[in-house]
Amino acid sequence: MLNKIKKKFRNAIIAFSYGLKNTETDILGQKTTISEANVIDQKMQMNNLADALLNGVVTEEVKVLRDRTYLISDESKKYKVIIDTIGTTKAVKNMVKLNMPKIYTGDYNVEIVMDNNPIPSGVIDAFQSVGTHGIANIYPLKFTYEYIPKFKLEDYVRKFVVRSDSEGNIKLDLYVPKFTDSFERLEKLFDNELTKIASKTSKTFNIEFDFIDFVSDKAYGVDDLRKYKFKMVKFAEIFEFDGSTVLSYDVLSIGDNEKITEKYKNKKLRDNYENKTSRGTKLNLGNQESEKHNCEECGVEIKNDYDYRITKQTIGKGICQECLLKIDVKNI
Ligand SMILES: [Zn+2]
Repeated sequence: MLNKIKKKFRNAIIAFSYGLKNTETDILGQKTTISEANVIDQKMQMNNLADALLNGVVTEEVKVLRDRTYLISDESKKYKVIIDTIGTTKAVKNMVKLNMPKIYTGDYNVEIVMDNNPIPSGVIDAFQSVGTHGIANIYPLKFTYEYIPKFKLEDYVRKFVVRSDSEGNIKLDLYVPKFTDSFERLEKLFDNELTKIASKTSKTFNIEFDFIDFVSDKAYGVDDLRKYKFKMVKFAEIFEFDGSTVLSYDVLSIGDNEKITEKYKNKKLRDNYENKTSRGTKLNLGNQESEKHNCEECGVEIKNDYDYRITKQTIGKGICQECLLKIDVKNI
């Protein structure tokens, strides 16, 4: 027991001295190693954060965490991580642009290419759908129809493309695979319908819609989590491309395609990231900055909030370095 306390105390002193020299330049200077103090400090933050999350309180730290997740998701796409033979990791700026998928472009610029694969809607849904057919899937692409449609296009479209020209005309292409050999009745019907439309023996209202909208995710041409909405103006043409049937529409863009995470942006975090001042312990943008602490032994002001917290947590009292050195281990 006493050994344990002694060890804790020794750790406190190590952490304490780290804390004192834990200036921003120190942290910035050490590019790859994380100091012991950093680790301890982050653990303490994690505790605060866990409490806040468990109690459903949206504190500044939770907000920062949320935005940090978005920021990392965005920024990480610009880098690729290289791990060498001795296990050192390095982030290298990713200079290679994603290759454009094989799609029809015409005389247009390709703005967005995205897959329309079903989104797993949760474990229970997945269990319920085992061995059954006709489960309503959730897709990234959402269609709005004026009347209940004969075919729900979201069930057939596997990929979609947004193209535009210099005059601001926008084309939306829906890529549909061939369902010729399908055993699904509706897929066969849909396939027949497209054949009839292509040979102009059928009108196009069964493949028309009012609006589509989606949130970008792993798309070519745009970053993630942007909201898009288009109004269908008219069905334009149907053609074959690379084994798919392409349904092409003239559409109008609606809204400003804002990033849905925008409203969660944390100014301090973004500013720090921009200025590259945020490293290690400086991630605690939470509630510490306004707190002033005085030594609980001698009353002198403790300049470094970190020192106060580490002693408070380790020996139960927030004290200054002088008092810490004077304390008799046996009395703790
Ligand atoms: Zn003191």
